[in-house]
Amino acid sequence: MYTTMGKGDSIIVAVRVRPFNDREKTRNCKLVIEMPNEGTTVIRDPKTNEEKRFNYDHSYWSHDGFSEKKNGYFEPTDAHYADQKRVFEDLGRGVLANAWSGYNCSLFAYGQTGSGKSYSIVGFKNNKGIVPIVCEELFKQIADNKKKNMQFEVFVSMMEIYCEKVRDLLSSTPPPKGGLKVREHPKNGFYVENLTTVPVNSFKEIEAKIEEGTKMRTIAATQMNATSSRAHTIVKITFNQKSSKQAGGTSMKKSEINLVDLAGSERQSAAGTEGDRLKEGIVINQSLTTLGRVIKALHDSQKSGGKKMQIPYRDSVLTCLLKNALGGNSKTIMIAAISPADINYEETLSTLRFADRAKSIKTNAVVNENQTERALRELREENLRLQSQIQGGGVSGDASNEEIEKLRRQLAENQKEMEEMEKSWQQKIAEEASKHAGGASEKAEMEAKKRKMCHLWNLNEDPALTNVIVHFIPVGETVVGNKPTSSGNFIQMSGLSILAQHVVLRNDGNNQITLSPCSEDLDIFINGKPVHGEVQLQQNDRVFFGGNHLYVFNNPTKKGIKTDITYDTAQAEIAQNHAAALGNRGIGGGSKRDLILEEELMSTLPLVQRANAMATELGRNVKFEIVLVSPEMRGLTSGLTEIWIKVHNISEDTYFLWEKSRFMNRYYGMQEMYEAKQDGSEEWNMPKERDPFYEPPDSPVFIASSVVFLQSLAYLIDVEEQFPIELRGEYVENPSQLVGKNIAFKVKVISAVGLPRRILKSNCKYRFFGSKKMTTTPTVSGNTPSYGHEETFQFKPVTKEVADYLANSNLYITFWGTQRPRGANSRKNSVSTIGSGGAREGPNKAKRVEKMVANAKSAENRNISVKALETVLRGVDDNENRKTRKQSMKKAGSTTIKSRSGSKKPKAK
Ligand code: ADP
Ligand code: MG
Repeated sequence: MYTTMGKGDSIIVAVRVRPFNDREKTRNCKLVIEMPNEGTTVIRDPKTNEEKRFNYDHSYWSHDGFSEKKNGYFEPTDAHYADQKRVFEDLGRGVLANAWSGYNCSLFAYGQTGSGKSYSIVGFKNNKGIVPIVCEELFKQIADNKKKNMQFEVFVSMMEIYCEKVRDLLSSTPPPKGGLKVREHPKNGFYVENLTTVPVNSFKEIEAKIEEGTKMRTIAATQMNATSSRAHTIVKITFNQKSSKQAGGTSMKKSEINLVDLAGSERQSAAGTEGDRLKEGIVINQSLTTLGRVIKALHDSQKSGGKKMQIPYRDSVLTCLLKNALGGNSKTIMIAAISPADINYEETLSTLRFADRAKSIKTNAVVNENQTERALRELREENLRLQSQIQGGGVSGDASNEEIEKLRRQLAENQKEMEEMEKSWQQKIAEEASKHAGGASEKAEMEAKKRKMCHLWNLNEDPALTNVIVHFIPVGETVVGNKPTSSGNFIQMSGLSILAQHVVLRNDGNNQITLSPCSEDLDIFINGKPVHGEVQLQQNDRVFFGGNHLYVFNNPTKKGIKTDITYDTAQAEIAQNHAAALGNRGIGGGSKRDLILEEELMSTLPLVQRANAMATELGRNVKFEIVLVSPEMRGLTSGLTEIWIKVHNISEDTYFLWEKSRFMNRYYGMQEMYEAKQDGSEEWNMPKERDPFYEPPDSPVFIASSVVFLQSLAYLIDVEEQFPIELRGEYVENPSQLVGKNIAFKVKVISAVGLPRRILKSNCKYRFFGSKKMTTTPTVSGNTPSYGHEETFQFKPVTKEVADYLANSNLYITFWGTQRPRGANSRKNSVSTIGSGGAREGPNKAKRVEKMVANAKSAENRNISVKALETVLRGVDDNENRKTRKQSMKKAGSTTIKSRSGSKKPKAK
């Protein structure tokens, strides 16, 4: 029986801001967050300085005002700083108190990747988060409350939702294809069928279980090439308090605690999917998008005075499982984790707005208490009813198989529930213990072994999955690969680019370890440098085995073990070493812009490498390459150079340029495809329309750009031939004289010549002062298209900004086209789309990475944006129209531009 208590608890919302990370420090990022008091969070727009204020239940300042103690704990040195203990006291204590009262509790952390969700929920090393402290305290309180007539039971489950599939993180059997099923119980709501639920007797046991789950996540993420930041992790603790009444009979209070570390909330930039016909095909974290919609719907319903509204819980796995937490029987807390830095302003603002909507949501927690005997009787009665329904062909007498199946399942669930109720706690614990001997002591053993034996420990882009896997290197030979050898020592590494027998490690008995690759073309790097023959491993060596396997080597019998090695530094040295090998001093020139670019390059390089490796393994004849694209080339007058990805479809001989965000979107699709294949799914092989590797030839591709200097317009001079060929009316001596006058400018884009032969149709785009949208010319076929475009831009009157624009800016016109795939055109075309040097396959990936860096570098140096049109013109060498081309060279900017004085002509002086 449910007892209703305090109706309508609002979700408690806390915001927490973390310190700057290394990246933000090297970039000299500005702080955009202030927390003037416990209830208020202020964010300042770094561009306009405008402030936005939000009120929450708690605003936790964890940005500065602390120092690291000897044991690694971050301790406040200033009262403003909120440490882990404070957050636990405010939020975790409440969770515990509610659990004791028999309420369901939920706590979830929301925020972009790297904002500190895991830090708050699970914590790192000695800075323990809410989950471990709650568990520890729970067992302490159980010990303090031991009474004769009371029995306490604690169970733990752990699962991960990735791409709408539920993975059981505590199961010892291989996961079923397609993940576990989410079902709905008529009374209790949604649950995960067959989820492992482990009874635990102590904090040590629960801690060991959570570590086991984390290890399972790490292995799966590495093997499947998955991005852990896109997964939601849920730890579920069930706490039962059974008391036997003096009058006979027992009653039970039950609390379910859901602790949820959500996937990174960073949105896909709209540009990434805009115009991408694949956007429907790729599920961009359906669970997270649905969570946003559910919160919005609940918020709106609350705003409209509790109006009944359709809440789309059923649209995703996560929202089904969080249904109670969000709108039902639960006391709920949300932690919104935010970055303090200006570069994350947009994401942070969006997190703050999400949190703001969440705080208006009300749940309806009730104490879950029942008389065991009565509950058993009810279950028995219900089962009798279910049985007769099944025999009688459902409620209606002619139920479908599906319906009968559902009744059967319900019956089985009830049966299980009854059995569990009748089993004693001792029985449950004994059953669990019989499943695996060891358990809690494994960890201690492993720690002891790490102090004696040479080993490798893993680095993962997610700090929570770093140093989770340890491989020991015993005396003799150990083979590393993806197929266990029949005899001898073996280390299993699976997934992308790992061979059956990948490398051999030899321990000579004196802790001298040598590593020898089993094949010449392997992707093995040590400390960022490619390895081809046998090498001896040194203390702290970062060993990249290929794919996703990055490890640190430690020899505990020798001094000098470093503890501050991170995934980022290890990844950076891989990229840097390749630039250095070419005699470059690296990409960065030291300026902030260069730093940003360098960082972007380092984070993108491994993804491009993996995309190429996936293409190979999935039999896609596609090659990806990084290119640097200047703002001019994108038709902009200012901005940063960006990293784009050049895509060469070798079979169709087509080239495309993807923005980074588009590449990322596709990259996730590739990962899903790769995972499906690894999973043994027969449907992994996508048709072209849904293939993330495929870009159809009719997708527009950048061809070239042309620059028009506007300065002469500022003097009201026509610029058709870069000379004042015609003076129309009067001209002005100083652009400032234009201000206040009504003037119209006409932009004409007449024609282009000598486009690459593979281009079927093309058009041009540009953005004139103040236009919100790009202006696009008509799309025209052929290699010498006549666009015949004219567009008038009126300024009534010309402002100072317009005059400045004309005096100081250029108009960048970009050319876009669609391509003729090979087959449609038998002649092979050798002109590369943007002339950044063709993608030649190196003998191994090391070379290819070097090449990518070199290409990226040279693309930048060559200032492609302005010359691209000319480059393309010269690059075409066939017999057609040699003459016309000569003539047209003069017209290379055949994109001519004309100005005309407006209706009110400026008066002559
Ligand atoms: P998320 O889980 O949101 O991706 P993490 O919790 O992994 O982010 O945090 C990213 C990094 O920032 C980690 O190295 C973590 O230790 C650090 N960090 C996060 N929050 C804090 C904090 N409050 N104090 C100190 N370091 C933090
Ligand atoms: Mg995390």
